[in-house]
This record gives sequence, C-alpha cells and structure tokens, in this order.
Amino acid sequence: MANTEQEMTSVEDVEWPDRWNHLCKFMERTGPFAHPDFEPSKEMLDFIKSTCKILVVGAGGLGCELLKDLALMGFQLIDVIDMDTIDVSNLNRQFLFRHYDVGQPKAKVAARFVNERVPGCKVTPHFCKIQDYDEDFYRKFHIVVCGLDSIVARRWINGMLLSLLNYEDSMVDQTTIIPMVDGGTEGFKGNARVILPGLTACVECTLDLYPPQINFPMCTIANTPRLPEHCIEYVRILQWPQEKPFGASVAIDGDDPSHIQWIFEKSVERANKYGIVGVNYRLTQGVVKRIIPAVASTNAVIAAACATEVFKIATSCCMPLNNYVNFNDTEGVYTYTFEAEKKDDCLACSQIPQKLQFSEEAKLREVLDYLTESAAYMLRSPGVTTMINGKNKTLYMQTVKSIEEKTKENLSKTLKELGLEDGQEIYVADLTSPSSLTFQLQLTSKMEKD
Ligand SMILES: [Zn+2]
Repeated sequence: MANTEQEMTSVEDVEWPDRWNHLCKFMERTGPFAHPDFEPSKEMLDFIKSTCKILVVGAGGLGCELLKDLALMGFQLIDVIDMDTIDVSNLNRQFLFRHYDVGQPKAKVAARFVNERVPGCKVTPHFCKIQDYDEDFYRKFHIVVCGLDSIVARRWINGMLLSLLNYEDSMVDQTTIIPMVDGGTEGFKGNARVILPGLTACVECTLDLYPPQINFPMCTIANTPRLPEHCIEYVRILQWPQEKPFGASVAIDGDDPSHIQWIFEKSVERANKYGIVGVNYRLTQGVVKRIIPAVASTNAVIAAACATEVFKIATSCCMPLNNYVNFNDTEGVYTYTFEAEKKDDCLACSQIPQKLQFSEEAKLREVLDYLTESAAYMLRSPGVTTMINGKNKTLYMQTVKSIEEKTKENLSKTLKELGLEDGQEIYVADLTSPSSLTFQLQLTSKMEKD
C-alpha cells in the first residue's frame, strides 16, 4: 500500500522517444490538405493527450476498434458508455474481450484492457444506458463518436447534441457545437459520417438512409410487446410455425409478398390488442428480412475512418469528411463520399415548427400512424400530450401501462371530439428523442373541404 504513489505512473513516465512521432508529422507541419485555420504546433499533442475529451458510445464491434484506434492516436481522456454485457458470440471480433470476461459489462472490460495495454491512456467506463445521463454529462466532451447498432440510440444521441446548442438570432453559437462522428456497419457494408449539429445534416435529416432494424428478448415479444416490431416478431417466430398458413413445410420467404402480407395482417391484429401503433407493410418486410451478420474487417475499416475523423476535427490538420462515406466490399472494394444535405424543415435540427395537416374528423390513431410511418418522422412509440384550457392533457401514452389503458379509447376518437383546434400545439414524446417534439395542428373542417 505504501507504494501506491510510486506505482501510479505519470504521463511523463510512460513516454518514450518518438512515441508520437507519427502524429507529430501531421501536427507540426502544414500541407495542402490542412484546414485553412490550421497552425502547426508542438502543443497540439498536449491538447490531444491531456485536454481533449472523447466520448465513445458503444463498446461492441465498432467500439472495441474505436477505443484501440483512439488510444493509439494519442487520445488519453476517453469515456465509453455501453449497457451490454459480453456474450460468447462477441469474442470472434470484439477483441478486447476474453472468454473469462463473458457476462461482464463491455464498457468496464474494454476500458480496463485499453488502460492496461496503452500506457497513459485513461478510459472511463459507463455501464448504463445513454438515457441515464443528462445534458451535463454530454456537455463535457469535445467530440462524440458513435459505434452503435441501434438507430434509436443514434437518433437519441443526435437529439441530445442538438439540445445542447444555443441560438442567437437563429444563428448557432458555434462554441456550443459538439461534433458527432457516427459509424455503422452491416455485414460487408458500412458508413461513416461527420455531423456538426446545427450546421450540417443531422441523423434525422437523412432518416431514409436507415432501414428498420431489430433484435428483442423473447419474453418481451411474447408477454410485454411495446413496439410494432415486437408484434411482427411474435407472428414470425411463434404464430407462423403454429398456424402454418402456407402448408406445414413452407418456411417464411421474405421476398414472397403473400408471406409478408399474412405476417403483416396478423401483426396488426396483435398490435391492436395491445394498443400499439406503427405496424405497416414496409416495417414488416424489414423485420422479416433482416439478416445482419457482423464482419470484423468491416468494423475495422469503419472504425478507422471514424477515428481518423476525430483526429482531424480535434487538430484541424486536415479537412474533415464532408460529410458521409459509404463503404462496400461485398464484391471488390467500392467506396464513395457524398454530402448529405441538411433538411430545411428537419424535425430535430431546424428551427421551423412542424406542421401536421389533418381533417378534424381524422382519428387520433391516424395521427399516430402518420408519425410512425412517415419517412420524415419514423417515430417508435409516440406519446401525445397537449394543453387544453391551460391544463396539460395526455391524449395517448403507450410506454406506461396504466396510462395506456386510460388513454387507449382516445385512439378511435376524432381530433374534434378530443377538443383539438386548428393551430393547436401537440407535444410528442418518443424513444428516439431526449426531449419532446412540438407539432402544430392544421385542421381542416368538413365544410371547408366541401
Ligand atoms: Zn436535421
């Protein structure tokens, strides 16, 4: 115990000659690809090592690669957040984990491994959900880099970083921007993107780039469905083998429209039973056809691209990716870069209020179906409140069972019956966003139509 202080190695102790030589070549001299604001300096290395705070979201296939890459690129103040524990099936590619780590939290094991292996690196693990932390936590970081397999989580982080922005005369205060670097892989395909919240296209601006996706515990699917996907999975896994709709030996063919149609209709039945909205044909097909094998080399390529972008943003030694790169090595190697465009009326990053046009005779269920099905929103489990006569009124909420039961009947009422008027604001809470979303109703009456 007396030796504790001596055992703690300081940064100076763990350096050796030319340790960061490869990085200094970028930071201590300029070049044709440097950012216009770039000024070469020896101090930049200190910034990377002891000031710049990076948050890695996800400690799985991409996360392990990202932590290794960032640590070897000189970043020493890294936090990693992941709510999962290690499964034996992770070990073929999540190389910071060993067989004896199975069952342990990914974030903790990954952090320990990197800290032991890379002298001077201080990875801080967070074994929890991203939603467990608030703005004060996320505001601490200079750059957030995501290696997630969940679109909902990506959208939530995107929303969180957008909520940290300050606006002055509808201009973003640039000091409040925390860049987000986001990687994603699916089999032999991957992408990486750089998002400057408030300035460039955000996750919600380009929602149509993401397919619907899933993976749920059986008990949820069977007993406590909350999402449209839970209902579809129920039909696919349990109902199809029992009812054998196309004969005893016929397996589901995701490309056969009659199969998808059957699953879709049964899923709607189940969804109605639980008051769940959002089951549609497109989602059904997405759930049934999903096959997402993880390929270690794809993760390595995408994580490397993301770590490089983090380094470029942190140092300005090169222009960052503008702003989206696709990678595909299914046949040969194919890659291209394009600039995803900011959507003027983006739900998340525009300052423009969202308008919803409906007939006052439309039922609340139609509004919710629209919010979940429309490619512009793709909400997952929207709950809706509004203000009527100065009082907060919950119109529908499915995430809390007791409220769901009390408000279920509102789904089949018309907007007029619910007391909603033209121009009224409704507030929508959803899994995909840390804060509630405001929509303004534009109601047309029957008379106007005639
Ligand atoms: Zn946006």
